[in-house]
Amino acid sequence: MVNTTELTRVGITIDGQDFSVPDGCSILEACRANGIPVPTLCHDDHLKPLGGCWMCVVEVEGRGLVPSCDTRVWPGMVVHSDSQPVIAARKKRLEEFLAAHYGDCTAPCRLACPAGVDIQGYLALIARGQYRDAVALIKESIPMPAVIGRVCPHPCEEACRRNLVDQPLAICSLKRFAADRDFELGEDSYIPPVEPDSGYRVAIIGAGPAGLSAAFYLTRMGHAVEVFEALPKAGGMLRYGIPDYRLPQDVLDREVAAIERLGVKIKTGCALGKDITIQKLLKDGFNAVFIGVGAQRSQRINVDGEELEGVLPGTDFLRAAAMGKPTKVGRKVAVIGGGNTAIDAARTALRLGVEEVTIVYRRSRAEMPASDWEIEEAEEEEVRLHFLAAPARIIGQDGKVSGLACIEMALGEPDESGRRRPEPIPGSEFTLPVDTVIAAIGQTPDVSFIEAEEATPDGGSIGIAKGNVIVANPDTLQTDMRGVFAGGDAVTGPARAVDAMAQGRKAAVSIDRYLRGVVLEDGIKPFNWSKGRLDEIDKAEFADVERQPRREMPRLRPQERRDNFEEMELGYTEEMAKTEAQRCLSCGCKAVDYCELRRLAAEYGVSDTPARRTKQICKVDKSHPFIEIDANKCIACVRCVRTCLDVQNVGALSFCYRVTVPPYAGSLLNTNCESCGQCVASCPVGALTAKDRLPPLEEVSSVCPYCGVGCGILLGTIGDAVVSVRAEEDNPANRGRLCVKGRFGIPEFVNHQDRLTAPLIKKDGAFVEATWDEALDLIESKLSKYRGEQFAAIASAKCTNEENYLIQKFTRAVMGTNNVDHCARL
Ligand code: FAD
Repeated sequence: MVNTTELTRVGITIDGQDFSVPDGCSILEACRANGIPVPTLCHDDHLKPLGGCWMCVVEVEGRGLVPSCDTRVWPGMVVHSDSQPVIAARKKRLEEFLAAHYGDCTAPCRLACPAGVDIQGYLALIARGQYRDAVALIKESIPMPAVIGRVCPHPCEEACRRNLVDQPLAICSLKRFAADRDFELGEDSYIPPVEPDSGYRVAIIGAGPAGLSAAFYLTRMGHAVEVFEALPKAGGMLRYGIPDYRLPQDVLDREVAAIERLGVKIKTGCALGKDITIQKLLKDGFNAVFIGVGAQRSQRINVDGEELEGVLPGTDFLRAAAMGKPTKVGRKVAVIGGGNTAIDAARTALRLGVEEVTIVYRRSRAEMPASDWEIEEAEEEEVRLHFLAAPARIIGQDGKVSGLACIEMALGEPDESGRRRPEPIPGSEFTLPVDTVIAAIGQTPDVSFIEAEEATPDGGSIGIAKGNVIVANPDTLQTDMRGVFAGGDAVTGPARAVDAMAQGRKAAVSIDRYLRGVVLEDGIKPFNWSKGRLDEIDKAEFADVERQPRREMPRLRPQERRDNFEEMELGYTEEMAKTEAQRCLSCGCKAVDYCELRRLAAEYGVSDTPARRTKQICKVDKSHPFIEIDANKCIACVRCVRTCLDVQNVGALSFCYRVTVPPYAGSLLNTNCESCGQCVASCPVGALTAKDRLPPLEEVSSVCPYCGVGCGILLGTIGDAVVSVRAEEDNPANRGRLCVKGRFGIPEFVNHQDRLTAPLIKKDGAFVEATWDEALDLIESKLSKYRGEQFAAIASAKCTNEENYLIQKFTRAVMGTNNVDHCARL
């Protein structure tokens, strides 16, 4: 590498600008020294340029395309670093790399989650017993893990690769477990950090999952948030729709309280359109508004007799039940519909003492929108299901319901929803003798609040589309009224709680950008390479995975639950949760957060949905305790092999089209590998990774405590957990290098399950756990006899820097001696 501050210089032109650069430097060095970005993959400052990957390609006038890392400058050289041929060449190269790349950037479960929760990460933390850290990670994506861990229909589990082995992970139940465990910590339960006060105020309309989620993330960003809710309590459909036997109100209360503890103010009994208007909120000093009013209005069945006493809209019925009000339900009930609301209404009616409940649904069981397990649970509780039947009219006597006339249906051609259209069978009418009909065929947003609104001075007004939904930009969730955003069921129509929370978070990000005056759209779409759908993957890839049955969550038996509102799912024990979490195959790439191939593919707009996908070409080598080799992801940049040989002087890796171990070895363990992990650090993709690494949320600069060299490290953390270690590139002590201890040892000892977290006192020859006060009293009584030179302290290599600091402070300030050392110097 040429010293770019040397005095012999030449003049060159890059992208139309003249620069004086050191004679003999490469174009890449010249660009970098002048802040002109040029991407690289095979380039490594510790190695001689190879010019192999051609990602650093630039155009030189009179020469055409050249690799910039390996081409020296000459006087008068004219370089184009981002011309159309350069961009096209880089994009083509990326496509070629990807055509031979086999792996999942992001785990399929996470991609299937509407909120993009880092499932692999939190399962790994649960498997290690770090429940609070698991909650910290989950709360980066959704604010209410105990709620979602109970009610989510978990599309993630359908995408789980473990379906190709035995059964999917119990992802949803594990989320609930972590959240419940964290709650048990009381005062110590996880509270996310909040940015300093921004000075901006945001009003949120509706305290459902969308509104609460927007409030949570906006508050974390430092904005003052006030939520205005029409009903007496916060929670939306989580409280007034989903019954207690699935989601107890105290669980909801505690997660609402955790959001309030962050600083969110919730004003209940205050309705938009009645008590407040958007215009008034903006005039009162709110800088932005989020509308999350949900889809609260039950749709009518539109048959004769709907006005009779005994016909109840499904959501009104459930709301009354949730509020403990009289529900006016009779002895024999027909519920019309096939979704969540229908099933919940039927099961709630049973619990209220109704003799017989029949769900009438116009399509077959396969088309029912309700989740399979909920239908099964309803059947276990003896709810009757009448498929392929539709209400024709409600029969009345003395103004009250006395029966429901139905007609049998047959399924015809698929309609616009893709489901087969139900068509009445002439002459097939029959009557159900019922005294109550609950209409649960769907909900729409109640947007009557708009009548009280005026258009803003710039003419902006809130648009309403088919189905009464609020019109919002799908990327930013801003409505047609500037500064007013909307999300959740009010925008999507009836969906799931997790979708509403995802929208709340998305709106929070947009609102934050709006307040800070940043363009709302986030330009670059994330790139996610995938092995493909489950049916595209060869099951043989998982042949070595040990079969382990999924741990199902225990629940009340039908006879124990059908006449009460007790929570029916009982929760995991710690042993069950850990064993279940350990079943995770950790499909997502461990390098997902730093992979250069992925970053560049996103930057250059490469498609992540190719016409044809590759297959696995070799097994992932997990034989080394710290280093995992997945040659299916190798892009043949040879950095690892060259680093091992030229930088570390070891030569434990070999290359045959892709990275591998030498032919004689069969495993890195049989080579002279020093486990320094320099190969991992040099790999620009996920071909060589640290085995138990998790992508961190934050990186903290620190100094390795293992010995006296003082290597600079970046500790990656999630909550309080250390999940990764990198060397600090420009630290003079280690210049980007680490030994096995620094690179792999720290998370191991910091997170070790046998690490002492409570003091032990020896009693009758055995150590027994004691309180900190007992331990400190004992230490004081023993040490008070000694002072100064009578005392010496030696810290273990497995003390953290903070602990080392306290040991020396104690020795010097309390014991009055400088007799303090660290075992690394012995
Ligand atoms: P909502 O939850 O509807 O909240 C909107 C809030 O706005 C309410 O509190 C409302 O009172 C308030 N509001 C309305 N108008 C105004 C106004 N003018 N002024 C002030 N406040 C106002 N999803 C799942 O994921 N799993 C399930 O098991 C599940 N079961 C369900 C069962 C039932 C019976 C129902 C109805 C829905 C179920 N859902 C389920 C769907 C889920 O509850 C919704 O998708 C989610 O609650 C939508 O969130 P939201 O915040 O958009 O709206």
